[in-house]
Amino acid sequence: MDEIKLIDEKGIRLDGRKSDEVREIKMEIGVIKRATGSAYIEWGKNKVLAAAYGPRDIHPKHLKDPTRAVLRCKYSMAPFSVDDRKRPGPDRRSSEISKVITEALSSVVLLEQYPDTGIDVFIEILQADAGTRCVGLTAASLALADAGIPMKDLVAACAGGKVNGKLVVDLMKDEDNFGECDLPMAIVPRKKEVVLLQMDGILSRDEFNELYEMVMNGALKVYELQKEVLMKKYQ
Ligand code: ADP
Repeated sequence: MDEIKLIDEKGIRLDGRKSDEVREIKMEIGVIKRATGSAYIEWGKNKVLAAAYGPRDIHPKHLKDPTRAVLRCKYSMAPFSVDDRKRPGPDRRSSEISKVITEALSSVVLLEQYPDTGIDVFIEILQADAGTRCVGLTAASLALADAGIPMKDLVAACAGGKVNGKLVVDLMKDEDNFGECDLPMAIVPRKKEVVLLQMDGILSRDEFNELYEMVMNGALKVYELQKEVLMKKYQ
């Protein structure tokens, strides 16, 4: 079978981007009035909403932790978010993404300041076009900041991958489907600490090191946009 051409000789991708270019990103906060904090992100064709609630009473009560707040992030994909209708409700993929997002955010939220409480973050994927765990995590971190919940820093995320043998950042759907590797990553930007790193596919050690730097730079651009939208709130 002929290889699907995802990037041309000049290094230009199907949507006109260069290999190190992130898709266009728009961020908004405070979009859901009933939530303690919220965020909406359009990132390429992805549309993602995140709403944070708490610190508040936790149910079921046996989950209470007398030493810290319990953070629970729930990632869900709307049935209409993808081309084929997605079966509503939880599945293995959303449980996995909820888990890795919760773990990534637990490393920045100062949970010990709110013992015996719960903080819930709901991430709703309204339209999906690859990279939704990165968009969801970026939005969840903004929603927590919008809620005024103390954190060491934001978490910013971006993915990278390999298509037609070339390394690129921020895969869109065709690149994700027909590419050779997908590497989502999330960082605590001030320390450049990695709090999520997954890899689907194969890279050589040198390719990994190069892509790691490209994705790190992508995530740092995302961080600048997060700070910009939060600063606007307080201006
Ligand atoms: P991510 O969205 O973080 O890249 P995946 O690599 O698992 O996560 O998924 C890539 C893309 O595949 C998604 O963004 C979405 O566009 C599509 N996708 C995921 N799950 C489904 C599904 N159940 N039905 C149709 N498309 C899906």
